[in-house]
Amino acid sequence: MFAHKRRLLSYCSSGDAMTTKKGGICINTKNNLQTLMTLAIETAKAGAVRGEVPIGAVLVCAGRVIARAHNMKESLADPTAHAEMLAIRTGAEKLGRWRLGDCQLYVTAEPCVMCMGAIIQARIPLLVYGATEKKFGGVESTAFLGQHPMLPKHMEIYAGICEQECEDLLKEFFEKRRNNNE
Ligand SMILES: [Zn+2]
Repeated sequence: MFAHKRRLLSYCSSGDAMTTKKGGICINTKNNLQTLMTLAIETAKAGAVRGEVPIGAVLVCAGRVIARAHNMKESLADPTAHAEMLAIRTGAEKLGRWRLGDCQLYVTAEPCVMCMGAIIQARIPLLVYGATEKKFGGVESTAFLGQHPMLPKHMEIYAGICEQECEDLLKEFFEKRRNNNE
């Protein structure tokens, strides 16, 4: 599943320059993707401290981080308060427009169907995520929206950036919660 994006990623990992122009900036090395993913990971960790499932999202516009958010479902008692939704909302509000065709979204885990819907509605052309999410992931794990005809042709998705770190974050959180409940 999703072989072409994974291939692009391994090309990147080999240290070769990969250049793609999206959202007004050039991503030319794996480092750029990792730097922004590290920021998403930090954001996710801040969520874990507040008892939220540690998923973090960073929205970049024209090379600048314009919004970052972690999951807030517990704090807001809102099933739609996923990191991606909150980052997109804040970003759109800051820019004063809903079309985010010059933005990029970095998320620590594979977005669910709802968030993929929002990403597509916002016309975000570049999505980068870390861990796959077997239960609710809407890109490659359950609904396969990463290959859906509704996906804009020009949209690019990079999966598995800082994958291990993103996975460990979730694993540790759930282990801790299980232990506390025992
Ligand atoms: Zn979601």
